[in-house]
Order: sequence, then structure tokens, then C-alpha cells
Amino acid sequence: MNFELTEEQKSVQKLVRKFVDKEIIPNIQEWDRAGYFEPSILQKLAELQLMGVCIPEEYGGVGMDYNTLAIVCEELERGDTAFRTAVSVHTGLNSMTLLQWGNEEQKQKYLVPQAQGIKIGAFGLTEPNAGSDVAAMNTTAIRKDDHYILNGSKTWISLCDVADHFLIFAKTNPAAGSKGISCFIVERTFEGVATKGFKGKLGIRAGNTGEVFLSEVKVPVANRVGEEGEGFKMAMAALDNGRFTVAAGACGLIAASLEASLKYCHERKTFGKAIGKHQLVQQMIAKMSANLEISRMLVYKAGYLKNKGVRNTRETSLAKWISCDAAFEAANDAVQVHGAYGYSDEYPVERFLRNAKAPVIYEGTREIHTIMQGEYALGYREDKPLRQGLPAWPFEKVSLTNN
Ligand SMILES: Cc1cc2nc3c(=O)[nH]c(=O)nc-3n(C[C@H](O)[C@H](O)[C@H](O)COP(=O)(O)OP(=O)(O)OC[C@H]3O[C@@H](n4cnc5c(N)ncnc54)[C@H](O)[C@@H]3O)c2cc1C
Repeated sequence: MNFELTEEQKSVQKLVRKFVDKEIIPNIQEWDRAGYFEPSILQKLAELQLMGVCIPEEYGGVGMDYNTLAIVCEELERGDTAFRTAVSVHTGLNSMTLLQWGNEEQKQKYLVPQAQGIKIGAFGLTEPNAGSDVAAMNTTAIRKDDHYILNGSKTWISLCDVADHFLIFAKTNPAAGSKGISCFIVERTFEGVATKGFKGKLGIRAGNTGEVFLSEVKVPVANRVGEEGEGFKMAMAALDNGRFTVAAGACGLIAASLEASLKYCHERKTFGKAIGKHQLVQQMIAKMSANLEISRMLVYKAGYLKNKGVRNTRETSLAKWISCDAAFEAANDAVQVHGAYGYSDEYPVERFLRNAKAPVIYEGTREIHTIMQGEYALGYREDKPLRQGLPAWPFEKVSLTNN
């Protein structure tokens, strides 16, 4: 076991921290208030080569390990959940799925520009009547000669108005339940694709989330990822990667809540002493501090397993569940530490609390992860190796076997 970050990981951490301090923190309150997604942030992240940090160099990425992606996500969410969500969706849910399941032609055409950050990827699984119950989806893909015709709609899709490419899950065999779902790469420019961002979200207001409409969209067979009927497995595997980035981001939210609370503890005085001297305030600080360590350890363990090329659904689910709950608690306590000032947008902690709620809902709700962990513990759930695993790191050895 090695608990030390490598020199390369430390330099990425420093780079993202500096970027967040300069580009995000000074502007985020204004963007959040306006419900505005600032597109130049993704362009700048691309210039820093952070949009494909754990994608092999041969596919346009930097070829660093999976825990480096976790570090990027933690540092981004220290600034705001919106930009970490963007990287989670673009890299974790879309690009890593192409890396794991895409054929060589798909990787060259779609993964390379995504890893370079030239094109942006999104992930379309949720529908108005199908969230946790993925198999209840209604979107269909009917094969006609060398293409499929897609019809349906997706909702709560992050980066819906921003993405160039969507991974869309649709039923190729509606009678077959979860075994009748397939996955397609859909370009925004395909005829019949339309999107509409939401207004009025509780949090992640500086992020873009909304609907994707698919009306008679002609998608070439060459854009089907994996086999027909493999979509459900691919979606779940994609979530193993997305959830990892969400869990890592939650560490950043805990860190930001702790940072703001520590500062305020030293500034604010009641009953003749700094509020940090009151034991009940210390209790909240202690919990944030402990939960930051616990959450990071769970994330890095999941990343370690990914680096080894070992299936990590259980460990990633645990990291996601525990760290997102802990982030919500940390943000809630950070508001408490700030008293009434925490209830105003004069301080960032009210934004942290609003932002902390979505990760407890998306990529598997708290309840879904609780059930999963209960089932694993009871022996009701067991994971079998997948037809295509995520390539182990370092990549040299694997790219030979993965293609
Ligand atoms: C900001 C944001 C961004 C998102 N981005 C994306 C995206 O990019 N792509 C995408 O595909 N989706 C995205 N989502 C959607 C998200 O993944 C879903 O909201 C999530 O899967 C939950 O589905 P649902 O909202 O339909 O809730 P439901 O599944 O309807 O659940 C409602 C409630 O019932 C509970 N529940 C459901 N089933 C069970 C059960 N079996 N046992 C116990 N309790 C249960 C849930 O835990 C929840 O409390 C996003 C959501 C948000 C909020």
C-alpha cells in the first residue's frame, strides 16, 4: 500500500488548484446567480490537457492513472460542482465508456477529439419515466439497413446544450427489458436532435442540465457501441467510472466546506472567544475533517482497483455513497458554523449546500447505493467480469489486448 501521491499527481493537483483559484472562484458567485454556464472553462481545461487526463496518449489523452482523474475532480469541485459535473460526464461517463467498449474506428473518430477537449461528450440515460429504473426507458432504436432510427427523449442530461456527442441508450428490443437496450453515439448535428436547458434548479446553477429530444434520428450502425442488447451492462459500467469522479468531487466539496468554516471559526467571536473554541463547533469541524480523510481513502481505493484493471462496482458505489452523504453533511454544517451569514450568498457555503444535493441523487441515489451495499454484504449481489474491462494502468500493456 502506498498513501503518497506521486510527483506527477502533486503537480496536477497544484495546476488545477491554481486554475480554480484564478478562473472559477472569483467568478462563480456571479455565474451561479445568473444560472450561466461559462463555456470558456472547458476550453481552458482542454488547453491544460485536463479533459482526457486518464485517456491513453494514443487516443488523445495524457495517459495518467485513474487516481489523477480523481485529483482533478476533487480540485474542480473545490471551486464549484458545475465544472466537476462537466468533467464527470465528459470524461467519466462518455470518454471512458468509449475507451472501454468502443471499437478502433469509434475511438479514432470520437474519443480522440474528446480526450483533446476539442469535442464535448455527454451521457443520455435518464428519461422522464426512467431514472433509477433504467430498464423502464421508452426511447427506441429500430434498425433499418445500415442505420437505426431513434425516437424518444432524455431528461436531466448534463451538458445537453453544450455537448457535440451524446451516448444515447435506447431499446433495440423493447420486449427484452434490460437485455434489449443498446448504446449509440449520436452527434448533435444529426437531423432530429434538439436540446433544451432547464432553469430553476436548486443547485449546480452554473452548470448546464436539460432535455435531449430525438425525433426520427438516423444513426449509422457504425455508431452502435458494443453489441445489440449490451447497453444496460455498458451503462452500469459507465456509472462505475462516473460515480468514481462524483465521489472524488465530493471530497472537494468537503474540503471547501472545511476551508470556509475554519476561516470563519477564527474570525467570529461569541461569548468572548473565537467560535472555534466552542466544543460543539469543534465537533462539526472534526466531522468534516474526518469525513474528508475517509472519503479520500475510499476514492483512492476504487482508483487503485481501476489501475489494476479489477472490477470495482462495489468499492466505487461505497465511495460514491459515503462521500456524497458526507459532502452534504459538511456543507450543511458549514452553513451552521456561519450562523445567519451562512444563510446568505455573502459567503459561499449556501451554494455548497445547494450543490451538494444533486450528487446524492444522480449516478445512483443514496437509496440505490444503500441497497447495493446491503446486497453485497448479504451475498445477494455478486459481480462477474465484464466482456470488456476498463484498461488497466499503465496503459502500454493493455492497449495491445484492448483493440
Ligand atoms: C443535476 C443533475 C444532473 C444529471 N445529469 C444526468 C446525466 O448527465 N445523464 C443522465 O442520464 N442522467 C442525469 N441525471 C439524472 C439522475 O441520474 C437521476 O435523477 C437519478 O438516476 C434518479 O432518478 P429519478 O430522478 O428518476 O428518481 P427516481 O428513480 O424516480 O427515484 C425517486 C425516489 O425513489 C427512490 N427509489 C427509487 N427506486 C428505489 C428502490 N428500488 N428502493 C428504494 N428507493 C428507491 C429514489 O432513491 C428517490 O429517492 C442528473 C440529475 C441531476 C439532478
